[in-house]
Amino acid sequence: MARNTGPVCKLCRREGEKLFLKGARCFSAKCSFDKRSYIPGQHGVSQRTKLSEYGIQLREKQKVKRIYGVLESQFRNYYDRATRKKGISGENLLKLLESRLDNVVYRLGFAPSRNSARQLILHRHFTVNGRVVNVPSYLLRPNDVIEVREKSRKLGAIHDAMKRIKDDTMLPWLNLDKAKMQGVYLDSPLRQDIPVNVQENLIIELYSK
Ligand code: SF4
Repeated sequence: MARNTGPVCKLCRREGEKLFLKGARCFSAKCSFDKRSYIPGQHGVSQRTKLSEYGIQLREKQKVKRIYGVLESQFRNYYDRATRKKGISGENLLKLLESRLDNVVYRLGFAPSRNSARQLILHRHFTVNGRVVNVPSYLLRPNDVIEVREKSRKLGAIHDAMKRIKDDTMLPWLNLDKAKMQGVYLDSPLRQDIPVNVQENLIIELYSK
């Protein structure tokens, strides 16, 4: 499975905002973006280029790819699927990305970041509707049940992540039963229930050129 394996904090600095790619570290004083919020590289501090319309659209696409940990070809496939569906293509694109298993494992609080979620899924720690799924990009359908496998329930990484879950902050399209270590993907989310700072219409404009 291809993925970006470089230093992730540089990605936040490149996009000019915190993308929350490293779990607990993102909320601590160790966050690189809080310490150095300029573009990485030798001339990063002095770089103040005014972006063209194309540049703005490109940066928005790169940001979304980085948030969800998706590479270009796969992202392009999501775009194609999004445009074939009924409704607003930009919203469809985000909904598809949000329905990925790694994203939902992260959103449910079983992992501190999408990256860790991906690792845990690859190591076969989760089931979907009772069957082990080790594909992070697996797309969930409404009412799919995501569960920590019986034999993985004592895993420290999952318990540490779950300590941070606040019961009143679960997204309305997800349901979590902490005691059973089980979550349900209730339905495809509405745009206002997807907490990402993204202008998805810019990505659609970029690809439709
Ligand atoms: Fe981004 Fe998190 Fe690294 Fe901060 S710690 S720069 S938010 S990935």
